[in-house]
Amino acid sequence: MADTQSVVSDVKLFLERLKKEMPEIFGPAAPSSSSQQTAAPVTGENKVLYNGDLAEARVYITPDQEEGVAFDGNVFHIYLQTKEGNPSALVTQWLRDKAAEVLPEKTKTWAEKIGVAYNRVVLKDQRTLWASCSAQKNINYSYRIIKMPPVVQDYLIIHELCHLVHMNHGAEYWQLVEQFSPDYKLHRRWLNDNKDAIFEEVHITVPPSGEE
Ligand SMILES: [Zn+2]
Repeated sequence: MADTQSVVSDVKLFLERLKKEMPEIFGPAAPSSSSQQTAAPVTGENKVLYNGDLAEARVYITPDQEEGVAFDGNVFHIYLQTKEGNPSALVTQWLRDKAAEVLPEKTKTWAEKIGVAYNRVVLKDQRTLWASCSAQKNINYSYRIIKMPPVVQDYLIIHELCHLVHMNHGAEYWQLVEQFSPDYKLHRRWLNDNKDAIFEEVHITVPPSGEE
């Protein structure tokens, strides 16, 4: 059964090909459509990776309001007092705060399920490491973990907590991980495929109009 979506895109593709092969039947290309393809996108340019989703970010210049970031579940709203503000720094701080709020809580929950005791959670900005477990039983995380899908965040937490039982990556260790994160192999692949995006710095530009 043909679904409507693919029929529509097939038609579009067919028309595009026809335009290329027989441009005369379509007349001169409309300037608006050709410039649209080369010009930088006007909207949807600013994105924030959070919880595995690439969310839209909008910048507002609001001189009378305190600077800050509000996430409504879909869109990041970034409020600057002037156009010279630093929206990337504000969002980075928002992600750090969110990591500090969420990761210790999740770690506590998983530690109880697994039945292990840790000392404390330490948030770092590790550039090459997402997480680690110290001899003092501290669980260290890069705040950047918060950019990952929650299920991958859980896998990393479980990974570290299971090291409190097995300080190695032996077969018994992975059996324990699998018990609490059955799809851990998929999560490891996700991490491998997306590490560049996770370690990439937040980059938000202020729109020329000052508001969009
Ligand atoms: Zn490990």
